[in-house]
Amino acid sequence: MAHYSVIDRSFVEEQRRTAVSRRADVIVAGGGPAGLTAAIAAARAGADVILVEQSSFLGGVATGAMMAALVGSHWAAGIGLELIDAMAGRGGAPKWDGTPGRTATTPFDPEVFKDAALEMAQQAGVRLCFYTYACAPIVIDGAVKGLLTEGKSGREAMLADVVVDCTGDADLAAQAGAPVTKGRESDHKMRPFALLFRLGGLDVERIEQYVQENPSELQPQYRTGTKLSVGDEHVISRISGFYNLVEEAKRRGELSSECHYFRLENLWVERGTAICNTTRIYNVDGTNPDDLTQGELEGRRQTGNLVKFARRSIPGCENAFVIDTAPRMGVRETRRIIGRYVLTDEDAYGDAQFPDAIMRIESNLVQRPVPKELDVHMPEPIEGSPQDLLERDPDRVPRERHSYDIPYRCLLPQGVDGLLVAGRTISVSHRIDGTTRNMLVCMRVGQAAGAGAALASQKGLSPADVDSGSLQDVLRQQKAWPEKGRR
Ligand SMILES: Cc1cc2nc3c(=O)[nH]c(=O)nc-3n(C[C@H](O)[C@H](O)[C@H](O)COP(=O)(O)OP(=O)(O)OC[C@H]3O[C@@H](n4cnc5c(N)ncnc54)[C@H](O)[C@@H]3O)c2cc1C
Repeated sequence: MAHYSVIDRSFVEEQRRTAVSRRADVIVAGGGPAGLTAAIAAARAGADVILVEQSSFLGGVATGAMMAALVGSHWAAGIGLELIDAMAGRGGAPKWDGTPGRTATTPFDPEVFKDAALEMAQQAGVRLCFYTYACAPIVIDGAVKGLLTEGKSGREAMLADVVVDCTGDADLAAQAGAPVTKGRESDHKMRPFALLFRLGGLDVERIEQYVQENPSELQPQYRTGTKLSVGDEHVISRISGFYNLVEEAKRRGELSSECHYFRLENLWVERGTAICNTTRIYNVDGTNPDDLTQGELEGRRQTGNLVKFARRSIPGCENAFVIDTAPRMGVRETRRIIGRYVLTDEDAYGDAQFPDAIMRIESNLVQRPVPKELDVHMPEPIEGSPQDLLERDPDRVPRERHSYDIPYRCLLPQGVDGLLVAGRTISVSHRIDGTTRNMLVCMRVGQAAGAGAALASQKGLSPADVDSGSLQDVLRQQKAWPEKGRR
């Protein structure tokens, strides 16, 4: 029985004993793209691993927010690439064969992602704890030694040599006292939320026909040629734009002034389904439950309006209906740790190499000086508007090809031992986060975090003292290293 008191308007837990329910070499908190790969990588490297996930499935944003498209397929390696292959084998995604010029986005069926990821985790021997919320790190003498969790049976204490924070919000790092930041450096504003929903009853061939007959209505890169084969079926990654139809609907008062385009993703031609990624909720913080609650209400309001719009205005959507809304709000950006190294814009433009590299990113960066409005999902409500060249006319944006390393130190929080961080919360600038937040990068980073955690546990080291050559060797064994041209 816990004892409480209220002192100076604060609720004080005076003393509480929580039995240690489980021990492992490595505990991973969060089973999104980063966490599931971290857990699988650590288990394959020989560690006894517990994966704590608040939901009932793996995938994080990929499944829980229905964001079913892996951007940057050329970044796939190791576990991420295996996952694409496993989904392709189950008829849930096109196979990524690395063909130059092929569309670099891999759409997938989120239910197939859940099954494939679960099977890989189980085969690796990961101990799964679903329906379990990691509510606090156990910190002893400046080192994280495990987690306190809450679930239906109450509070549990779980101990481990190393904890990997893959919560997508750096929940544990922040609670352990590691320095963190949020959003854009200049004002800490964050990218908007999105509540995704799945539409059925679509005539995708007619939507495509509209696209071909009205090319100026659509984002150029999605006008033609994105239909991919999956067994006997076909899937289109994305059709985005419908600019004039949206403007007409705004003039009729059917859509809000902040809506500038309509975006369908994951269009399964024969199934007649697609995921709509068009709701946008601005000026919110995904670490604040009040903002998340308001976001859900606003997301559902926008969903209703968008469905009416699609049925009335878009050829092929006349019979559209909502199959389901995503179980969770899509939160693009919250905390990032200020780690032992912060990867900067200068590093990216300078093609930085680091001895403790865990992956090398190849990317087409916007030429400098980069105008403020050329940001992916920027915090201001201009996304998809004529101001937003990245959406409207990306070919007019001058770009340069660059490659840069992500060093292992970006996964290491400052001032706290025993903890690694992976996923969208690693230590990078807001602009670099525009790339590192992509799921295939999160999976590469997750794999490195898992391998690093396993090595630290096996050798009795702090994660910070893991030798980068040994880490790269494990990643090489796991087919996630080296990048081209590296040792
Ligand atoms: C709307 C939207 C569109 C996007 N579009 C794309 C795209 O097209 N392509 C692309 O590659 N990327 C896209 N992204 C980015 C990408 O999906 C995320 O950056 C990526 O999923 C981050 O992975 P993660 O593992 O760090 O975190 P998440 O995917 O957020 O996973 C975190 C996991 O941790 C769990 N969790 C959180 N806190 C706790 C806790 N305290 N205890 C237990 N469990 C916890 C969550 O339930 C979740 O499963 C998009 C993101 C959003 C939101």
